[in-house]
Amino acid sequence: MAKQDSTARFDAPPHVSESLIPAVGYLRRSSDKQEQSLPDQKREIIKYAKANGYRVLRWYQDDAISGDDTLRRHGFLEMHAAACGSREFEAILVWDIDRFGRFHSMEAGYWVHPLMKAGVRLVSVTEGPVNWDDFTGRVVYSLKQEGKYQFLIDLSRNSTRGHITTAQQGYLCGQAAPYGYDRMLVDESGAPQQRVRNGEKVAKPKSWKVTLVPADDSEKVRTLQWLFEEYAEQDIGLRSLADAINEQGIPAPRGGVWQAGTIRQILRNETYLGTFIYAKRRMGKYNRVVAGDVRAREDFAQVKVKVNAEADQIRVPNAHAALIKHETWEKVQEKLLARTMRSTPRRERNADLYLLSGLVHCGHCQQKMYGTSKSKVRGDKSYRWAKYICSTYQKAGRSQGCFYHTVDQDALLAIVLKKLRQQVFGEGHRDELRRRIVKRLAARVTVEPELIGSCESRLKELESELDRATDRMLRSPEDLVDILAPKVSRMRQERDGVAKRLAEMKGRLRPVDAEAEADCALNRLWCLEQEIEGAEPARLRELIRRIVGRVDLYFDHVPRGKRIECPLSRGVIELRQDPIFFGPVNRDDRI
Ligand SMILES: [Zn+2]
Repeated sequence: MAKQDSTARFDAPPHVSESLIPAVGYLRRSSDKQEQSLPDQKREIIKYAKANGYRVLRWYQDDAISGDDTLRRHGFLEMHAAACGSREFEAILVWDIDRFGRFHSMEAGYWVHPLMKAGVRLVSVTEGPVNWDDFTGRVVYSLKQEGKYQFLIDLSRNSTRGHITTAQQGYLCGQAAPYGYDRMLVDESGAPQQRVRNGEKVAKPKSWKVTLVPADDSEKVRTLQWLFEEYAEQDIGLRSLADAINEQGIPAPRGGVWQAGTIRQILRNETYLGTFIYAKRRMGKYNRVVAGDVRAREDFAQVKVKVNAEADQIRVPNAHAALIKHETWEKVQEKLLARTMRSTPRRERNADLYLLSGLVHCGHCQQKMYGTSKSKVRGDKSYRWAKYICSTYQKAGRSQGCFYHTVDQDALLAIVLKKLRQQVFGEGHRDELRRRIVKRLAARVTVEPELIGSCESRLKELESELDRATDRMLRSPEDLVDILAPKVSRMRQERDGVAKRLAEMKGRLRPVDAEAEADCALNRLWCLEQEIEGAEPARLRELIRRIVGRVDLYFDHVPRGKRIECPLSRGVIELRQDPIFFGPVNRDDRI
């Protein structure tokens, strides 16, 4: 049992005697190193089984998983299903009751009751068989379980309480240092003792604390300050900032290239003002922090991580050295806010605003182009229009090899509609399209009547089988229903499949008037064309989607001094069935 998955099962050697009580062994260890190791637990269980007349059929295990995290205990779940689904074994052997799980009594009932019904007992090496069948046994088991569960909650509450006290003094309680800082161990008097870099683990005396100091890698401090100042003073966005810093070859905080999102996070982090913040988000399972107090957490089941209200966070100004001046910080926040408002239009309007979203792709990187809105103020009027931008560039700037590929929606829409008019609806192409439709219809395979006959009789067979099975299921005892239900649903699926095939074949049996159908298809297309003229945006969006499957755009790269301009050069419109091409954009189409 050296290196294993966190969950696995093993089969026992087959030399065991038949007269013994069939059982399975269950091993569990949480990540707590104080607990008994899995091989130790196994050894104890084997000893106990020999002495008490059990035959261990196989083993289930969960490694490094807490006893209250039942749904992640795959070994446990597999064992539970086996215990309830087969009559293979009558006992589950564990080292102590804790191994089986740390449930509160209501949840314990959920797992225990099916085992009782299946006649499977829980037996621990330390306390022998658990007696779920009599009243005293059940009460004792429940009390023990509640005790273990409470123990976990108490542990969590105590450590949260300890963290709060530490945080209120402005010291770290387990966090990593943000970019530009190192952690520093300080003694009781606050005197620095030892610098700790991220990822490094050191043991410290209990009375020592951890605070932040400027990183001894001065390039990081300089880069951080440069980011704030550049963003505050220059007319530059986060993406261009990422480009600029990547060009200098400076590695991102976690290695690799800088992305706009990383920089945004840094620019918003108040730690750089010297303020220490704790409990910004609630993440714990049992407790949360409310204005320096521990409260039980009720919303964990709905949402695991949630931002705490500012009043509930713990903020300690001047807890460590600031790296950024207050004025710079204020300027940066103002600009971030202004830019966010400009670049994220309200969601409910998006459907009307971006008629081609999801269809438009950047031909260079094959990724989608995102809709985004631009605005300009001229005189006392403000203008706002939609455009599409290569998502690769949007996320990572030039670091991922794509350029500032953008196109205004109005211009693109005009091109797409014009091309559709010419290539799909246009008179000359109409005949070509008609010819293709006729050809496709004629190519349909004819169907053998015998095949339909055999399909029909199979369908009848399936239907009567299904009737019988449903009937049986309705009359069986509850515990059999679980076994029968999947079988019945499989039969139902097969029945539906055969019925569908039959309908298809019958459809093809009808004589096809290819000419008439082609006329009909062309007519539908003509109606579509009429409707597209003057359709409301939402409707237009839907109509375009009926015809167009994808649009790929290609851009020229024209150096203009230090910048590279990227005008649209050509594109490919893929229809939902046949691709048509539009060549270099005409002069008057240029954007
Ligand atoms: Zn691209």
